[in-house]
Amino acid sequence: MFETGHFATLWRNMAQRLGFEPELIESDWRRGADPAAMEKRLAEDTNHEIKAVAVVHNETSTGVTSRVAEVRKAIDNADHPALLLVDTISSLGSIRYEHDAWGVDVTVSGSQKGLMLPPGLSFNAVSDKALEAAKASSQPRSYWDWEDMMGPNDSGFFPYTPATNLLYGLREAIDMLEEEGLDNVFARHDRHAEATRRAVKAWGFDIVCMNPDEYSSALTAVMVPDSVDPDALRRIILDDFDMSLGAGLSKLKGKAFRIGHLGDFNDLTLAGTLSGVEMGLQRAGIDYQPGGVQAALNYLAETAGSAA
Ligand SMILES: *Cc1c(COP(=O)(O)O)cnc(C)c1O
Repeated sequence: MFETGHFATLWRNMAQRLGFEPELIESDWRRGADPAAMEKRLAEDTNHEIKAVAVVHNETSTGVTSRVAEVRKAIDNADHPALLLVDTISSLGSIRYEHDAWGVDVTVSGSQKGLMLPPGLSFNAVSDKALEAAKASSQPRSYWDWEDMMGPNDSGFFPYTPATNLLYGLREAIDMLEEEGLDNVFARHDRHAEATRRAVKAWGFDIVCMNPDEYSSALTAVMVPDSVDPDALRRIILDDFDMSLGAGLSKLKGKAFRIGHLGDFNDLTLAGTLSGVEMGLQRAGIDYQPGGVQAALNYLAETAGSAA
């Protein structure tokens, strides 16, 4: 497992509680899963004791998107049979992701981020190899057993009472994504993310993500100087403008805040969001360079019509 941030760490904790022996490749929460480090570690594992590689595609705590296709290549280069497990909860429907083409074995996602729905649905895409591994495993399971789900699914049923209302919502969400066209949806997120980064840089702040190849198009995490309390800023923006920004979590607590730009979002909602941040910076008396919103608006104007 790669320690890309808070969500990767939660997966590690869950694996530990389930009795596995996860090994975390540690990191500073400012970059994605490192394919070279993975290849090196897997090549050392000549007895194939490592059963799976687990990666969070879009690390929501840091705004870093890992290069899953390159992680796949690293596993193949090491000629290792480990399964590739990927969390796409905050990327699916916002950032390009290819379960089949990238040779992922298990993809996990949820309804509550880019699919624009309330929480309550989760999805798995599962390769034949992973199904075989599940069958061969003696690990106890019940609610999460794929076999229980797949039998009734063949005839359109669920083994438990399904969240029918959310399935109707999902149908509409998928229609919305298909009406816009997935390529356009991804381009819209890329463009809004770039506009956001221009605003952040114009304000004079750093982006948490250190590697431009790994910038997230779903959200941007902003580093603030030691003199700035990001939670006080978030409080002012919430109280005065009714806009809720993400906090810095765990290692980034008190050091960063997060601007979401995923899902049902357009140029005006982005402009409103960034205006809320800039008004908050001013109101909180923070030392920043004005003009972030203008930098974002300029970029949106230059690229108008190219997407969205
Ligand atoms: C939101 C999210 C989850 C799930 O969070 P819950 O609050 O536990 O439902 C998992 N992984 C990532 C990357 C997420 O963004």
